[in-house]
Amino acid sequence: MKVLISVDMEGIAGIVHPAETTPERYDYERGRALMTAAANAVVEGVLEADPAAEVLVADAHGPYRNLLPEHLDRRVRLIRGKPRELGMLAGLQTGVQAAMFVGYHARAGVAGAVLAHTMTDAVLDVRINGASHGEIGINTLLAASFGVPVVLASGDDAACAEFSTLVPQAVTVPVKRGLGQHAADTLHPDEACERLRHGASQAARQPAGHPPLAVPSPLRVEVDLAQPRSADLAGLIPGATVGGRTVAFDAETMTAAYGILQLIVALTQTGP
Ligand SMILES: [Zn+2]
Repeated sequence: MKVLISVDMEGIAGIVHPAETTPERYDYERGRALMTAAANAVVEGVLEADPAAEVLVADAHGPYRNLLPEHLDRRVRLIRGKPRELGMLAGLQTGVQAAMFVGYHARAGVAGAVLAHTMTDAVLDVRINGASHGEIGINTLLAASFGVPVVLASGDDAACAEFSTLVPQAVTVPVKRGLGQHAADTLHPDEACERLRHGASQAARQPAGHPPLAVPSPLRVEVDLAQPRSADLAGLIPGATVGGRTVAFDAETMTAAYGILQLIVALTQTGP
């Protein structure tokens, strides 16, 4: 079996604040060590269930250069750095049979969820054919478009609930309870790792039991942006239309939609 583990940072046990997830801020080095330990716990669980499994780990937060390569389980391949095709799920196109989301967070605007956002704070909402989705929903659809089921998701309670709404039968591993955007009641990192290892082992034993989500086609994507200037820029993408701060575009495939979403996010981060 080939498994892709996509590791974000905001949903890791112990993490509640951007100072722990942003390069060069004071607690970032601790945050990335916690993230690496969580990734290793999931790898261990997968390999416990299937010692012959091929495991890809995609660093999926911010610059995609957070996991400490030298401390990662040596049995995996690490996908690191950006920009790259399929972003948070790079590696999906290589014949993966199951995906796992670790350290994930709720979508923008969810009250009481730790570090909730959708791709960047500059995005207020993303709707796909009218349904609001965060990274969990977008990435679950992207995986599904490759025929890949997402068999495990971990993050705070809100992230796990968001995932369970889409894929009720899959394994979730909640590692903290949100008390606000920057506050949580969190498990000890070691306890979280133990639960992740167990959950991953359980999920890796039954990937075929979870059919991938149905992907609508064609896709209509709407993105609400915080800054009008970002909407002006996104409106320059051929085929995109702008109404107020909302950019809309059509796409034939989730890969195309995801590529345009990545571009829109990059545009929100450009200077004047
Ligand atoms: Zn992140």
